[in-house]
Amino acid sequence: RKREQAQLRDERTASADGVHFDISANIGSPKDLDAVVASGAEGIGLFRTEFLFIDSDHLPTEDEQFESYKAALQALKGKPVTVRTMDIGGDKQLSYWKLPKEANPFLGYRAIRISLKQDNIFRTQLRALLRASVYGDLWIMFPMIATLQEFRAAKKIYEEERSKLIEAGTKISDHIKLGIMVEIPASAVLADKFAKEVDFFSIGTNDLIQYTMAADRGNDSVSYLYQPYNPSILRLVHNVIDAAHHEGKFVAMCGEMAGDPIAVPILAGLGLDEFSMSASSVLPTRSLIKHLKVSDLKTLAKSALDQDSNQQVIDLVKASTK
Ligand code: PEP
Ligand code: MG
Repeated sequence: RKREQAQLRDERTASADGVHFDISANIGSPKDLDAVVASGAEGIGLFRTEFLFIDSDHLPTEDEQFESYKAALQALKGKPVTVRTMDIGGDKQLSYWKLPKEANPFLGYRAIRISLKQDNIFRTQLRALLRASVYGDLWIMFPMIATLQEFRAAKKIYEEERSKLIEAGTKISDHIKLGIMVEIPASAVLADKFAKEVDFFSIGTNDLIQYTMAADRGNDSVSYLYQPYNPSILRLVHNVIDAAHHEGKFVAMCGEMAGDPIAVPILAGLGLDEFSMSASSVLPTRSLIKHLKVSDLKTLAKSALDQDSNQQVIDLVKASTK
């Protein structure tokens, strides 16, 4: 298997019956780029930009951010790079910028909620991204979107910064894609509405599972409820993929589930377009998909949606892919 994986490094991901998928990598900073290039990933599916903020002792300037985004786009040589605007709050706090203490930080002031309220920081990040866009294929996504109004407000700010830069004579790519993370059940349920307005979705299962099961993703006492294959989660994912495809839109997944060997056959059967994961999982996942037929996986996925429990889905996948 190891030798096969080395050969797969320069191959496009495809199933045994010739269906293509994209397998991309998640990064937190330009330091991770060498591993991504070495992995043969078909792109970056999630650049968690909050680490530029967390690993610094000051708010990163526009130029500092520009250099990081440019480095990622150049390293990927025209392959898609999906950058998520900063997802501060929840468990991710900054030393130099104190946010209010909250009783429920995961249900509180975080991510796009901060960006829309303290929009100067958001605007700085968007300008850095827009300026870097000429160096590759840039996709921008907003984290923790719960409502259409939030997406529209974020897009409006993006358009304003874009217009200002163009007026000032700055060169900007004209094919930047704008999407959202689907990680709150509200947006997964309303995916048909969102699909008409976004360019793409990226499903963030780490949070989507936490919010759907009402079980803190870091709390051991309730970890038994953290069930990626629970049919409730699979049905939400199914709804998001179908809604996107109905509008001809692209669907990625960038939560841990995207690189999980039990989940991958189901997700491929549901028609997920892109799987984004840690660089070390890229080749094992490409190899797994190469040995599976999508025609079989469609039947498997359909049956998974109809199970009663997380465990039944695990048993089903193990029985049908061994
Ligand atoms: C997710 O929620 O699945 C995700 C990819 O984002 P993060 O893990 O950074 O919250
Ligand atoms: Mg998340």
